[in-house]
Formats: sequence, structure tokens, C-alpha cells
Amino acid sequence: MSNSQQNNWSNWSGSVQCNPKEIKTPSSQEEILSIINNCAEQKSTIRVVGSGHSFTGLVGTQGTIISLDLLQGLENIDTEKKTATVLAGTKLKSLGELLLSNNLAQKNLGDIDVQSIAGAASTGTHGTGVTLGSVSTQILEITLITAKGEIMVCSENQNKDIFKAAQVSLGTLGIITKIKLQLVPAYKLKYVRTKANLDDCLNNIEKHKSENRNFEFYWFPHTNGVQMKTLNITYEEPTKSSFMKYFNDMVLENGAFKVLSELCRMFPSFCKRVSKISAGAVSTGVDINYSTKIYATPRLVKFQEMEYNLPAEKAVEALNEMRDCINAANFKVHFPIEVRFVKADDMYLSPAYQRDSVYIAVHMYKGMEYKTYFDAMETIFKKYNGRPHWGKMHTRTAKELSQLYPMWNKFQEIRNELDPKGLFMNDYLKKLMVE
Ligand SMILES: Cc1cc2nc3c(=O)[nH]c(=O)nc-3n(C[C@H](O)[C@H](O)[C@H](O)COP(=O)(O)OP(=O)(O)OC[C@H]3O[C@@H](n4cnc5c(N)ncnc54)[C@H](O)[C@@H]3O)c2cc1C
Repeated sequence: MSNSQQNNWSNWSGSVQCNPKEIKTPSSQEEILSIINNCAEQKSTIRVVGSGHSFTGLVGTQGTIISLDLLQGLENIDTEKKTATVLAGTKLKSLGELLLSNNLAQKNLGDIDVQSIAGAASTGTHGTGVTLGSVSTQILEITLITAKGEIMVCSENQNKDIFKAAQVSLGTLGIITKIKLQLVPAYKLKYVRTKANLDDCLNNIEKHKSENRNFEFYWFPHTNGVQMKTLNITYEEPTKSSFMKYFNDMVLENGAFKVLSELCRMFPSFCKRVSKISAGAVSTGVDINYSTKIYATPRLVKFQEMEYNLPAEKAVEALNEMRDCINAANFKVHFPIEVRFVKADDMYLSPAYQRDSVYIAVHMYKGMEYKTYFDAMETIFKKYNGRPHWGKMHTRTAKELSQLYPMWNKFQEIRNELDPKGLFMNDYLKKLMVE
């Protein structure tokens, strides 16, 4: 086990900074148990970190941070049943590579692949596609070590209530050590990027959603410009234009955008013009490759983000209201607004619980004032019964959240039973879960 007395920790975007007592990196279940016992004896607290890519205070603590970076890889894989048991600290990128070498893949993913599998699942991380659920819906079984040091296995057939709670549980039920996933045969995706007009895109939204396996779009505020992205399964050979994809990802989407973003940070009044330039320079093109090489794009320009889940049928109304609000308030924002769709599920704290959903995300370049803009967008999201993405910024607290989740009380009952003394709590989670 590596034990660092390092006394500062920060998440990816820098929005959360803390001074933990220690950062521990256990390499076995026994070592995790011993940390739990020590912290419980000392009446201290524990937060587990995946890759630190959540924007909210889920991980920040003055107690102990545990990283499962030494617990990565496949415990076993069944190529016939297409299942794999994955150690909880495994990063999605290396998981994708391991699976592909066995001719398997995850059914869907979000737009980056640096998260750990347990971290991604714990906040309900999602991609896009009306027939596809979030990463947590791919889970068949979870192994968890509770605050009492009990090793608990849960699935649809064993401890079912705990399973439905644990699939999206923000690290509040215990430390997830393994996740068994239902996989699919490896597949190739044809990734098509096109330029569009927001009104056309909204008028044809049902068609785009239903005709593509994965459909999403980025709308550039202060403009009518949109970049549409579709992914569909293909049996064609992978494209060889990897240099062009690299050029697009690294130079256009990251390099040039970083320079423009710095300009906006120094001179916020440039935002409108920069958004127009970005909308005009939107890249178009086609790439074909195995799914794990297509979903993720590098994100080198840092930002803050708020993302809300709304009932899918409210997408157009909500986006039109956002457009009116941004224009009227003239918000200094140049980062595009991202729109994705996710199928309903049955996990207690999943924002897509029992409703087909649209996820709408707003971003602000790191270092620029974001609160006024996010607050205004959140007011609109609330109007449409929005449920916040657990890993992204929002201002909701337990009282409000309990009204948004039909299984809220059941989840809290389970949490109180598994962690009666709040070993896995921090101040942020108390506001979210208790107060
Ligand atoms: C650039 C960027 C792009 C993103 N793109 C998407 C996207 O496309 N779709 C989307 O939905 N989200 C996206 N996100 C959000 C991100 O997927 C989530 O915040 C995710 O939870 C981060 O995973 P992580 O491994 O970094 O977990 P962390 O942020 O480190 O932790 C998240 C939660 O998981 C808990 N946790 C981690 N490991 C364990 C464990 N072993 N046992 C119990 N609890 C654990 C933590 O305690 C915490 O509560 C993005 C974030 C960034 C910064």
C-alpha cells in the first residue's frame, strides 16, 4: 500500500480543493478493510476517489482519501456470456483496450475515458442514445465493503434493494471493489460530424434521435450554429485519416479553442464573437473505428460544468427558453451547450429514473465567472423537473432532491443501515443527503 501524507488534493477542474489527513492507495481488499477499521476506531471519515473528474465536492475531505489506482484490471472475463469482473479502480480507457483484445466492448460510453469504472458508475455517467442507458445500467453485480467491514455482493438476484441503490451511490454506501459488467461483442462505429442550424436541428430532433444509435449536438450560444454528432454501427474498415482526427481533436478542438478561451477570459466581451467564430469553424467529417476509440475525445481545455437531466419531451421547450434567457441577459459565455439523450432506467438515484431523458450541459472556461450563468440556467432546468448530474455543479440540497427521486427514502434507509455513523460522509454530502 502506498501511503501519502500529502496534504492537498484537487479535482480535475480545480473547483474542489482540500487538505486530507492522508491519501491511501491500498492494493488489496485486506488493506481496504484495515483502513476502514482504523478510521472507524478514530471516528475519522473516508472518501474514495476515482480519477477526480467530478466537478462537485463529492471527494473533498479533511479525513482520509482512498484511491484504488492499484486495484485495476480484469479479475475474470467470460467471452461466451460476454461478462467481465473489473477491479473498481480500472480506468475506462484501459478497460476498453482489455475488452477489445477479447473481442468485447461496453455498450455505450460518455465523451471521455479517463474515469475509473467505479467513479463513472457512482455518479450515473452517461453517453447518448435513446435506446441506451448510463454506464451503471451495464452493471450485473457490485462487490462493496461497508462501513462495518462487511464484504457485500449485490445483484438483481442477491441483495436487490442494495444493488439498485449501489448502482448510482456517490460513494456513500461503502467502497466498491469490483464490478461485473454485461458486455457486447466488439463493434465499429461510424462517427459523422456535421454543421447545422439550431432551429432545423430542433425541428427534426425526433428524426435525429430515432434514426441514429447515438445522437448529440453542441449549440454555440449567441448563434444559431450547431455541430451534430451521430454514431452508428458499421462493418466498414476503420478510416485511415487518423492524422486528420488528431489534428481536429488536438489542434482545432483543443489548441485553437484554448487560445480563444484565454482571449475570452481576459476580455469577456469577446465571448459572443468567439462563439460565432467557433460555430463557423465547426469541424465536419467521418471517422470509423472500434467503439472504444471513437466515444472519447481529449479534453485539454479546462472548464466548469453544470448538467441537468430533464424529461426527453421537454428538450425543445427548455432549449428555446435557454436561448431567450442567454440572449436577454447577454451572458458572457462562448462554450457550447451539449445536448444528449438517455433511456429510462430503474436505479434509485439515477437522474434517468423512470423517465426517458435529455441531458443538457452548460460550460464555462476555467477562470471565468460562471455562477450567474449557471444560476439562470438552473432556474430553467428546475422548471422542467430537472434532476442534476451528480458529478456536475448544481445547488440542490436534500430537501429538494427528495422530491425529485421517488426512491429517495428507500436509498437513505439503505445508507443509514450500511453506514449508520457516517464514515463515508463529508460536508458536501451531508447537504445533499441529510440536511
Ligand atoms: C472533461 C470531463 C468530461 C466528462 N464527460 C462526461 C460525460 O460524457 N458523461 C457524463 O455523464 N459525465 C461526464 N463527466 C463527469 C464524470 O464522468 C463523472 O464526474 C465521474 O464520476 C468521474 O469519474 P471519476 O473516476 O473521476 O470519479 P470521481 O470524480 O473521483 O468520483 C466520483 C464519485 O464516485 C465515488 N467513487 C469513486 N470510486 C469509488 C469506489 N471504488 N467505491 C465507491 N465510490 C467510489 C467517489 O467517492 C465520488 O462520489 C465528465 C467530466 C469531465 C471533467
